[in-house]
Parts: sequence; C-alpha cells; structure tokens
Amino acid sequence: MQKIELTDKKINNNQRVRWSIETGKKGPVVVLFVGIHGNEPAGTKAVDQIAAKLKSDSRELIGAVYAISGNIQALDLGVRYIDTDLNRLWEFFQTGRSKAYQNGTSGSVEYGESLEIKETLEEILKKHKQKATDFVFADLHTTSSQSCAFILLNDTLSNREIARKFPVPQILGIEENIHGTLLSYINNLGYKAIGFEAGAHEDELSVERSEAFLWLLLHNSGVLVLNESEKINLEDSIQAHKGVPDTYYEVLYHKRVEDPRKFQMIPGFQNFDPIEKGTPLAYEYEKLITAPEKGRIFMPLYQKAGHDGFLIVRTVSPVWLELSSYLRKSSVHNFLKYLPGVTVNNERSYLVNLQVARFLVKDIFHLFGYRVSKIDADTLICYKR
Ligand SMILES: [Zn+2]
Repeated sequence: MQKIELTDKKINNNQRVRWSIETGKKGPVVVLFVGIHGNEPAGTKAVDQIAAKLKSDSRELIGAVYAISGNIQALDLGVRYIDTDLNRLWEFFQTGRSKAYQNGTSGSVEYGESLEIKETLEEILKKHKQKATDFVFADLHTTSSQSCAFILLNDTLSNREIARKFPVPQILGIEENIHGTLLSYINNLGYKAIGFEAGAHEDELSVERSEAFLWLLLHNSGVLVLNESEKINLEDSIQAHKGVPDTYYEVLYHKRVEDPRKFQMIPGFQNFDPIEKGTPLAYEYEKLITAPEKGRIFMPLYQKAGHDGFLIVRTVSPVWLELSSYLRKSSVHNFLKYLPGVTVNNERSYLVNLQVARFLVKDIFHLFGYRVSKIDADTLICYKR
C-alpha cells in the first residue's frame, strides 16, 4: 500500500500541499492545482475524494503526485479572489510586468499566494529533477455558466499529446486572449500543463467529472493503470453533451469587460451554444452587445467578478492540426523571416509589420506554433511557444 501524506512538511511549512504520494520509484510526477479561484470548490473536493480512495487502493503506483491548494484565503471565504485574480498575474514572474500589478497591488493577498505556490512548484521540480520521467501539471476549474467538461491548453505539441487522451472539447491558444495564467507560466518553464474545466461552479456533476478527470490523468500519465472497464466508465462520465463535438476549438473573439458590475450576460446561454452573427448576447452600460462572429459562445460570464465577458470559439479543421504538427517538427521555420513584413526580433520571436503583411499572417504563425500578440495597430509580435 502507498503512503499518502495529508500534508508534506518536507516541501514547505505552509498548508499549500493538501496531500502527496511519493513512491520513490522512477516515474512521472503529476502536480494538481485546485482552488486557484476560491469560488470553485469542485476541484478541492475531487482531489480529497481521490486521496481517500487511493489510500485503500491496492494497485501499484509509480512516480509522485502532489495536490496543491490555490487561493487559500479566497477558498476560506468562497470568493473568486480577494484583491486580484490569482490566475491573471503570473506573467509578472517572467516579464516583471502584469496588468494585475499595475495599481501597486504587489502587496495584495494574491501576490503572497502566488509566491508560495511558486516556491512549492520550485521545490517539487528540484526534488524530482533526477528521477522524474516526465512532469505533468493540471489546473482544475469550473465556470459560472452551465457547461460540459472541457480542456484549455496553450497550443504546443506536448500539451496536445496529453490533452487529446480525454474525450472532451479542447480549446487551443487561450493564452493569446487570457494573459498571466498559471498554465502559461508553467508552459513557459518548459513543462506540459493543461486546464480542466468541469462544469458549473455549484453543480455536483462538476465534482464527479473532476474526480474522473483525475483518475484518467493518473492513468494517462502512467502513475497507475486502470482496467479497461474502469477507463470506459470514467471517460463516459466526462464526455461532452451531444451537439458539442469533442474536437479542437480556436478562439475567434474575446469580449473584455472593464467593470463586471456594468456587464450583464443575457440569461440562458450554456457554454458552447451555437450562435449566429448578430445574436444579442449581453448588455454593457445598458448598451446591447451582439455577436460579431458566427460560432459557439464560450465562457459567458454569469458572476460579478472577472473581466472576460464571453468568448466565441469555432472548431479547428483536422487538416490544419495535422499540417501544423508536421510543420512544427520541420525546418521550414527558417523561412519565416523571408516573408514580406517579417523581421527577426530575437531568437524566439518575430515582428510583423501589418502595413506590409496583411493576409494570413496570424494563421501562418499559428501553424508554426507561435503565440501572436498585437503591440500596436500596425505591429504583431510572434513568440515561439
Ligand atoms: Zn477558475
């Protein structure tokens, strides 16, 4: 039987590590984050449920597993955050910049929380660097709207490889629209990291789906082996609704909200509902907002906290996925700099002058695995993920 520690004082002295399993055997290290948003308790319940079951489970485990609490103070109060969103500030550690810190919020509750999480992460990496065959990170969330389960990932081939083993919709390239997430921070350190969104905040099904995801993640990453019927049952319980294909999606549009108190989604939208161009979606400062594109509504905001009003997504063609996977492994990259309007910025990034390169620039750089952001009206910067 495995030894499951409820907390691990060897890692640090705070309560960040809810529990851990260290088998001492060479294998994958899986790190689970729960409660990064304090009003999303489904993930915390699910990790604790799986810990209780693993304690009396006789199957062999290899590698190590850690369950890490996110925003501890916000979890205690059941609110999304106290001062600032803990899942929007991580670019601070890589660039020294973060919108969340613009107003001198480095003394915020979440800054303290993020420092502790970062420290815990570094300890785990250091401790297992020699023996780990792989590191896999997962961050568990829920949404304010009704939703089937889905996975969010930054579009790298290694993230795709782990994510595609789950029979749920997969949203690519969310990092271009939502900045400073913990997942992006971990990806930029060079590790696989995926986000699992289980459903609505208070839905009991969200706990069930989170737990199913955790079992499948432990199986898919190689920590344990499920038998075929267990695997099929778990996959069934996270399967998307009929009418929502479990394929890849890309973000077409992102409605940012300055003041969530002045933003009101029209009631009744479920995540992934198909919408037409012109569909009435929300009111902001009492002005009607309609869909600028045809697609599917994604993460409509039904709470008075957060700055992402809604997104519009659409499915990505399998041909594009194949082609992009082929191109990323090829050396055709070296020719990007010869495209009109493209200049080399540094080893990992290019600048694109939109006055010169008008067409398809974003698509071409996405194919090659670049993250594309606008610097100003005429310039794009494309980073290698
Ligand atoms: Zn969340």
